[in-house]
Amino acid sequence: MSLLISEIFGPTYQGEGPSAGQLAAFLRLSRCNLTCTWCDTPETWDTSRYDLTAITRRMTDAQVVHEVLAIPAPLVVITGGEPMLQMDRLVWLADMFRANRRRVEIETNGTIVPSNGLLNAVRQWNVSPKLANSGLPYRKRINSEALRRFNSSGRAAFKFVVEHPAELEEVAKLETEYRLAPIWVMPQATTSVGVLARMREIADETLARRWNLSSRLHILLEGTDVR
Ligand code: SF4
Repeated sequence: MSLLISEIFGPTYQGEGPSAGQLAAFLRLSRCNLTCTWCDTPETWDTSRYDLTAITRRMTDAQVVHEVLAIPAPLVVITGGEPMLQMDRLVWLADMFRANRRRVEIETNGTIVPSNGLLNAVRQWNVSPKLANSGLPYRKRINSEALRRFNSSGRAAFKFVVEHPAELEEVAKLETEYRLAPIWVMPQATTSVGVLARMREIADETLARRWNLSSRLHILLEGTDVR
């Protein structure tokens, strides 16, 4: 059995969400079922800009495990793209990483219903439902059944990418409709100046709503301030 891999890298720091700052190995799977306008990993899906055949590696499950375990980090972050597109391979991977004393978290856009086996095989789910700022219609970016399953697992955190403070109301509506918890809010920005500016814009209201606030550590550390 094989997987389509975009990249495997580390050790580095998890840059976002509940585990931000933790030493991690990253396993980035290729392909996505969405097309967010501000996507920061378009090389996993955007065939108009990238030759996916040339930049995607097809690896066996065993090769993937071997390469990830060679990275000295206690946390394995499985991300994408949308890793749930290759859900049938993830239970085995998660089991292998756990058997080798690695903690596993999966980052997903929350549009694909997880199997019970996979839900239980993963300790931490970072579910990032997309808002209207993604440029996608609601029916494409929100899957009620998937959100309910993730939420009822007790293993999921819901992370929203926000461009403007007004969008926090959109987050609140989803929180109420699906009783999502815990909520994390993260700024949409690609420079350290932008990350800090947007965090300052949304921090007070995020706090008032008793939500968590995430920075984007990898961008702050890169210090890219081109715009
Ligand atoms: S869901 Fe994630 S990987 Fe897919 S297009 Fe949106 S931001 Fe990019």
